[in-house]
Amino acid sequence: MKIGIMGGTFDPIHIGHLLLGEFAFEEFNLDEIWFLPNGNPPHKDAEEMDTSLKHRIEMVKLAISGSPHFKLSLHEAKEGIHSYTYQTMLDFHKMYPGNQFYFILGADSLFAIEKWKYFKGMFTTCTILAAMRDDKDVGDMKKQISYLKKKYNADIELLRAPLLEISSTTIRKRAAMGLTVHYMVPDTVADYIKEHHLYM
Ligand code: ATP
Ligand code: MG
Repeated sequence: MKIGIMGGTFDPIHIGHLLLGEFAFEEFNLDEIWFLPNGNPPHKDAEEMDTSLKHRIEMVKLAISGSPHFKLSLHEAKEGIHSYTYQTMLDFHKMYPGNQFYFILGADSLFAIEKWKYFKGMFTTCTILAAMRDDKDVGDMKKQISYLKKKYNADIELLRAPLLEISSTTIRKRAAMGLTVHYMVPDTVADYIKEHHLYM
């Protein structure tokens, strides 16, 4: 099976994440997309991360429930523990031999990938599918992709998906100001945010 991995903090999950998953699924003929919420991302400090893992997971569940090819992986969902994506990829290869893995990310992550711990291992354990985001244009992306390919022999493809200027940060800020987040997240997620008074 060909599996797309959509890793993130998902604080909260939004339609940007969901569309990346959907377009990767379609464009690269994947069999499933696994949403992989991280427990305690090494690159985000505790201040930024005050939404409990439980809430973040619940929102992912609500967001993907309508799609048969979207699944939830709790592999990195360990509170207080730093998960490294490379280690997760090694674990997945051991647990599901024969599967091929495609790691889906946005431009900001592609440009920061050399700061990830064990990032070189990512290039040998999966194909990276990189989507454009915000200020990066196709030219920037293609340059970065060919730079990483040349330097690390990385397997990276450009993922073509609709460009959406949406981030979890914007959503948290809007919710904190009492502004609507409808249409930025699935209705069920917007209702969940309201019901649990998240980001207030
Ligand atoms: P935050 O603002 O809290 O950092 P985020 O919207 O960036 O949240 P993350 O959970 O940090 O969401 O992102 C997970 C992955 O999804 C990253 O690889 C990121 O680049 C990608 N991503 C998120 N939103 C978009 C978007 N609108 N377009 C393209 N990629 C995106
Ligand atoms: Mg982010």
